[in-house]
Amino acid sequence: MRAVRPPQELYEFARALHEAGKSCYLVGGAVRDQLLGRPSSDFDVASDAHPEDVIRLYRRVVPTGVKHGTVTVLFKGLEIEVTTFRTESAYADGRHPDRVEFASTIEEDLSRRDFTINSMAFDLASRRLLDPHGGREDLARRLVRAVGDPLERFGEDGLRPLRAIRFAAQLGFDVEAATLAAIRPSIGRFRMVSPERVRDELMRILLAPRPSRALRLLEETGLLAEISPELASCRGVEQRGMHVFDVLDHLYACADAIDSERVLRLAALLHDVGKPEAKREEPGAEPSFHRHEQISAAKAEDIMRRLRFPNAEIAEVAHLVSCHMFSYDDSWSDAAVRRFIARVKPPNLDRLFALRIADGTAILGRPVDPRSLDPLRSRIEAVLAAKEAFGLADLAVRGGDLASIGVPPGPAMGAILKELLESVMEDPTLNDKARLVEIARRIKPKYGLE
Ligand code: ATP
Ligand code: MG
Repeated sequence: MRAVRPPQELYEFARALHEAGKSCYLVGGAVRDQLLGRPSSDFDVASDAHPEDVIRLYRRVVPTGVKHGTVTVLFKGLEIEVTTFRTESAYADGRHPDRVEFASTIEEDLSRRDFTINSMAFDLASRRLLDPHGGREDLARRLVRAVGDPLERFGEDGLRPLRAIRFAAQLGFDVEAATLAAIRPSIGRFRMVSPERVRDELMRILLAPRPSRALRLLEETGLLAEISPELASCRGVEQRGMHVFDVLDHLYACADAIDSERVLRLAALLHDVGKPEAKREEPGAEPSFHRHEQISAAKAEDIMRRLRFPNAEIAEVAHLVSCHMFSYDDSWSDAAVRRFIARVKPPNLDRLFALRIADGTAILGRPVDPRSLDPLRSRIEAVLAAKEAFGLADLAVRGGDLASIGVPPGPAMGAILKELLESVMEDPTLNDKARLVEIARRIKPKYGLE
């Protein structure tokens, strides 16, 4: 195991606390990551100094959580979170500690932390590691183990079961048996956790190198059904044709196969979540999943809304999901390529292609060559390079031009512009102001206009 070697600036930071007679320990993720030889970007420090002491001692202090005993010090390019030693206090609503009690020793502070691998402290004065809960041993065995009795610890804060699986995912560790066994009985407590906290841990699970292992742990412990019954109900839904997995294993495999980026991982996990509802079985035939991409998009929206994802992210994921069912062959006309671009919108094309490749990989259970979409990609590039119309903004007429021939703003104008766009997608040479105004004049009686 590596040694803990904090950056020099951290020792310089500790000096002011030491000179004031206070202690200063590096704690939490940074100690764990240094022992593992992983880079750590944020530094958490524990001290017997109170927030007001820290505010007095340093020049640039942000009062990030004074109520909980935390302030952030900006020091020589580092962002250091300084938290006063705390004890475990009751979490009556299961969401947040109702009150914070300061502790007087680092040992007390370490024993209220969640897992042994997170409960070590490096004394910046003596340069010695404190490891009262066997964190190093568990790092060596690659285990996430609760500090103390797991049932009791999960009862104090219902987010911890999800954090256990999150650390297992990020580090490629197992969850120690008793810690894992305590998850299911703690689900009542988990239900009281705020959706925002669940979202943040879930996202870290999804961004892990291979999220499928952790997703299976969520499923086996009952947490997946709590977070998304929609996803849990994909288990055992068999598919047809080339598919080697049921719907849920297919979604796990798709999440593994796609780049680790928020929108992509979410879209991969949710892209077929509507399949159980869409499934129709006819005797003697393979099942069908007609319009499952629309149902999946609506469910993805519901799930993400419940978890309080930002609206822009929800819209991006739902859009990708709703567009994921396309299969290109060279019989596509240029008009079909233009309609495809108009529907997907150019900024989303790369992500949609990434989703399609990961989807293919998760259908067959073996990697699909990303170059298989190159023919469609070049058709699209040709259309974009020719600046052929693919959205209302690209039409050679505006609403104002139609108003001048007696089309009032409103639904009829919208419908006429849409029909003009469709004509232009069939035949780009029509994208000329005079010609479009002429067509509009001809079709407007169809929309109840003289
Ligand atoms: P990361 O590198 O992902 O930030 P981390 O270990 O620093 O990992 P944080 O969520 O930043 O994780 O928490 C910092 C430390 O605070 C943890 O290492 C742990 O000691 C303690 N901690 C955080 N959340 C809890 C919790 N819900 N219950 C008990 N201790 C916690
Ligand atoms: Mg941290």
